[in-house]
Order: sequence, then C-alpha cells, then structure tokens
Amino acid sequence: MQIRVLGCHGSQTPGCNTTSFLLNGNTLVDAGTITSLLTIEEQLKINHVLITHAHLDHVRDIMFLADNICYLQKERPLVIVATQTIIDTLKTHLFNNVVWPDFSLLPDPKNPVLKFKTIKPGEKITLDSMEVTAVLVNHIVETVSYAIESKEGSIVIIGDTGPTEEVWNVANSLHNLKAVFVETSLPNSMEDIAQMTGHLTASGLAEELKKLNTHNPQIYLYHMKLHYRESIQREIAVIKDRNIRILQDGEVIHI
Ligand SMILES: [Zn+2]
Ligand SMILES: [Zn+2]
Repeated sequence: MQIRVLGCHGSQTPGCNTTSFLLNGNTLVDAGTITSLLTIEEQLKINHVLITHAHLDHVRDIMFLADNICYLQKERPLVIVATQTIIDTLKTHLFNNVVWPDFSLLPDPKNPVLKFKTIKPGEKITLDSMEVTAVLVNHIVETVSYAIESKEGSIVIIGDTGPTEEVWNVANSLHNLKAVFVETSLPNSMEDIAQMTGHLTASGLAEELKKLNTHNPQIYLYHMKLHYRESIQREIAVIKDRNIRILQDGEVIHI
C-alpha cells in the first residue's frame, strides 16, 4: 500500500496543507488538500474519498474536485464514503445549491459525477483491494477513524479526536498492523483548549498509546496546529517505547 501525504496539518499556512492522505493513487482519506496539489490526471484517478468528519479542513477540496471532474466528464463517479450523519452535513451545508452546486445531480441526475455511500460505524466494506472499517472517535462533531486492511498489512488513521477507546480495541485486533496515524494537535500547555475542541496534546497522545497492545507499528503524528511542531516534538520525546515520527506534507509511505 502506498500512502501519499497531501496534507497533514490542522491549520493552513504557506507550506502547511490541511489533511488528506492518498492511498494507492485512487482512494483518499479526508479531503483538505487535493486540487491545489494534484494534476488533473491524478485527480481523475480518484474513485473514493473516505471522510472522517465534516469540519472544513477535512472536506474543503471535495467541492473543487467535484467541480473539476464534472467539467472534465469523468466516466466513473466520485464516491464519498462517510457515516450518514456526516453525509447529511455535507449535503445540507456544502452541496446545497447555495454554498456550492449539488454535484450529486450534475451533469445529469441519472448519471451524476458525485455519489454518497454510507458506512455504518463498526461495518467493514471492501474498496478495491482494501477492507475498510469506520470506528467512532471522540471529537466535537460526529467523527470516525478508519481501519484499513490490505494484503500488505493494516493501518489505522485516527483523525481529529480527544481521548477515545474503541479504535484502540480495533487496532489491537487487526492482523499485521503496520502503522497508526494519529492526531496530536496541540502542545501540553494548551490542554484546556484541546479538551474544549476535542483534540490531543502530546501527553494525551502518551495516554492513548498505552491502549495499543503492540509496540511494533510505526506511529505517525499529524494535524499539528500552527507552529507547535517543535514543542510537540520536544514533548513526545518522553515516550520512549514507541516508534514515533511527525509526518511531513508530501512524503510517501509504503507498507
Ligand atoms: Zn481538523
Ligand atoms: Zn475537526
């Protein structure tokens, strides 16, 4: 499995893009950064977009991607995969013919460029060569993480969340878990804001990792807010028994 990091930040500044992971060139997890980075040819290869939650830093570029593929007359529709609550939010607040056109009816209601596919929390679905399970986490709006199993191994992508439980049980049950991508948005000094906004600090991350039974997987941290990367880097140094690294925009990971 190839994981291309299009964006891995919780804020947008020059050189820092909001969250999107491109898997095997055709499946996205979150949609914070797509059209400003990928060529038209790369955009046309995307078939599925798994959404963790409806916050703008995770969905913004679906709107521009849908617009592009509508006018390029892509043959296969783009399928947005999310829970029903998240899909309802996207339909009500983004693709509502006010903020942006409803591309699930364009260019032709019988053959639209955008389709929505509901995934229930706990349900496993097959997308191309991957099996995907959505697991609820603990953010300020309904949010899921994704456990993704492939023949090369498994990964878990835990987007925005505060302290949570079930996804660690799922991670512990996966065969050949290779990597866990988990948010660490804020430094320890901002614990109060982290609690109010449903995010993890470095010490919150340390507590979460105690719930993971295996020490083998590579732990990739992401979704840092603004310029806190260096303080978070210092604060995670106290976690000695894990392979932890902070992700960079643009890197490509193979498992
Ligand atoms: Zn976010
Ligand atoms: Zn969020």
